[in-house]
Amino acid sequence: MQLSQRAQSIKPSSTLAVTARAKQLRAEGVDILSFAAGEPDFDTPEPIKQALVAALKEGMTKYQPVPGDPETRRVIAEKLTRENEIPGVTPDHVVISTGGKQSLYLTFQCLLDPPADGDPPQEVLLPTPGWVTYAPQIELAGGQVVELPTGAAEGFKISPDQLEKAITPRSRAVVFNSPSNPCGTMYTPEEIEALARVITDASDRAPDLVVVSDEIYERIVYGGFPFKSFASCPGMAERTITVNGLAKAFSMTGWRVGYLGASGDAGLQFAKAVGRLQSQMTSNITSFCLPAVRVAIQECSEDATRMCEAFARRSKLIYGLVSELPGLLCPKPTGAFYVFPDVSAHFGKTTKGGARVDSAASFAAALLDEEHVAVVPGEDFLGCGERCVRLSFACSDDQIRSGIERIGGFLESLS
Ligand code: GLU
Repeated sequence: MQLSQRAQSIKPSSTLAVTARAKQLRAEGVDILSFAAGEPDFDTPEPIKQALVAALKEGMTKYQPVPGDPETRRVIAEKLTRENEIPGVTPDHVVISTGGKQSLYLTFQCLLDPPADGDPPQEVLLPTPGWVTYAPQIELAGGQVVELPTGAAEGFKISPDQLEKAITPRSRAVVFNSPSNPCGTMYTPEEIEALARVITDASDRAPDLVVVSDEIYERIVYGGFPFKSFASCPGMAERTITVNGLAKAFSMTGWRVGYLGASGDAGLQFAKAVGRLQSQMTSNITSFCLPAVRVAIQECSEDATRMCEAFARRSKLIYGLVSELPGLLCPKPTGAFYVFPDVSAHFGKTTKGGARVDSAASFAAALLDEEHVAVVPGEDFLGCGERCVRLSFACSDDQIRSGIERIGGFLESLS
């Protein structure tokens, strides 16, 4: 069977691959300490589960409108309006999809075209390091990734000047993810406003430029300053697609519930296009999840806060321990549940098992083989990620202590 070029060229998600490998080794009886999975280690709050069970028992097992039932979209539109302060969002501007990942996929498919013969490709500005899935999704839609590189010294954040210089008439989108996976840092409201001004000021030069704001970590913030939605900045609502989901805030990774919200006339056309595309892909999300979405958003805010407090506490613990390890550099985490240390000071060394460490991938592989600690190598996050590894601290304090101790032993044994 001949595979398409598309199928041949697509790489598997490295975050999911490392997570699956760690789970498999654990199932085989290996004493694995995994910092791989980007998923909260809490159970889904009980009222959310109950709402699903009730809906299932009541027979909510048939097709629903493709973007989700009107009542659930109304709840999401109200959340985006009240909590996120985004003007111009109605239920018709909301599409519920099978995870934030599908919302992003649909977004890029509806914003980008592959270049016609002889034309230059449409550009998507991507701050890097950035989540492993953005670049493949952009490329699948025919866009060209233009990296905006960042480093640990500036908290992995782009500057307004850097953004301004990267914008061209071919710029179609900027991907924005604050708090960031994998960096564990986030932008202040003032920094977001400054970036928004660059985009509104560039509207003559790049009239088709929109922001794709992935706000999946909005509830996990602990840096001492508030979260801000990009679309709430002056002039940005109609130029921003806000993507979110329930996975991280309510510990619902396996449920696969994401959504996007747009605004105004342009946003309405966009949401309709996303709905048309979804109608040819997956239709509505699992019907009996929809009432549970409403319960999560309307009734489980305290659960989200409780989980955030645990992540905040763990962030201090892991940052303190990682900072004491020789040669590892990373900024203090302020959001999400990741640290992303630069480990390149150890490149060129050899492990006690004889493995050569000359990249993030070989560092992570040797750490897994020899110390049974799973981390995600940073190459697929792009940019300076090739010098970093990602540790998710969505795990217990005990595991954090034992895991960092093993990493410390690993580093000491390198020669
Ligand atoms: N977003 C999570 C992570 O980065 C889940 C895995 C994935 O979808 O990439 O680990």
